[in-house]
Amino acid sequence: MNKIGLASLLLVCLILSSAAPKQVLYQVMSSHPHDVKEFTPYIQTVKQQGRLWLVHLKGNVPPKVMKNFRRTNGQDVKHYSAPVLKAAFAAPLIKDFISRIDVPSIKSDVETLSNYKTRLAGTPDNQKATAQVKGIFAGLGYSISEYCYRDGACSIVADKAGDGSSSDVIMIMGHLDSVGKNFAGADDNASGTAVLMEIARVLKDYGNKKTLRFFATNGEEGGLYGAEHYAKLLTKSGAIKKVVLAINMDMVGYNSNGMVELETDSQYEGLANWFAGLATTYTKLRSKITIGAWGSDHVPFIQAGVPTLLTIEDWSTKTPCYHQECDKPSTVNYEYAGEIAKLNLAAIMTKDAE
Ligand SMILES: [Zn+2]
Repeated sequence: MNKIGLASLLLVCLILSSAAPKQVLYQVMSSHPHDVKEFTPYIQTVKQQGRLWLVHLKGNVPPKVMKNFRRTNGQDVKHYSAPVLKAAFAAPLIKDFISRIDVPSIKSDVETLSNYKTRLAGTPDNQKATAQVKGIFAGLGYSISEYCYRDGACSIVADKAGDGSSSDVIMIMGHLDSVGKNFAGADDNASGTAVLMEIARVLKDYGNKKTLRFFATNGEEGGLYGAEHYAKLLTKSGAIKKVVLAINMDMVGYNSNGMVELETDSQYEGLANWFAGLATTYTKLRSKITIGAWGSDHVPFIQAGVPTLLTIEDWSTKTPCYHQECDKPSTVNYEYAGEIAKLNLAAIMTKDAE
């Protein structure tokens, strides 16, 4: 190609690139019906894959609406089925502890938590539910701290100390509050809270090296308040650096296809794949991986630099009663919640043994 030809080609490229400016891609950060109603008029195109919802925007989006979106370069977001690998060697000790997961006990805790009229953060019934969760951890002999992000709205932290050989902390969490519908919030998130307590029960007799931390968060539905408050405190004191793994469980009880969704940000994609391998080795679950974390208590910890993962029911077949009064214990698939318990128990024990 001669010089004139090259110059014309460059000119054509320049014209084309200015005529079709690259549109900025955003990830949607909320699926709350109120937010969806608010931002829908500003969406030009939508691509939805599981929990990943990518949009192009149109018009002048007001700042209060912009909070529902996170700018993405397209490379830092992904949604895919994890490759099904041959199961690795299953450690006998882990298999032994996994066999102690008691599905009826998870069911019983979901029913008890759903028996409060509302678990909306800060209401008297939410305080009763918080006290009950606190009592269960205290009964296991764990050391309890309460973190109130405002008057009457507190999260519970229960620590099982390690054997002194490590200062590392492994944390597992689930939010105990609900959106406040009458006698509801069974899947969202009595299920995650019940699994949190079941894992704590099973691990009572385990000789851990690292500190195991059970974190029942509050105010997730209002805006991740409890988790954000605690992540900030840990960051300020420097204690956040000791947390080598954090697991979030939010909505782990509605499912028909045996699929778990593993969600984090791109820097922890390896963690999601590690969990997918554990799922194959220790459970009946298959995994989908979503890169591009949003909408639950794992987010403040990822932002604070902690390797953190959300385990959640397959979002493409999530409960039809999401944030509604029909989110009752009778809709929960307790065997499935039990499989999620096994997965997260295996992750904790594997990490602890490192
Ligand atoms: Zn939730």
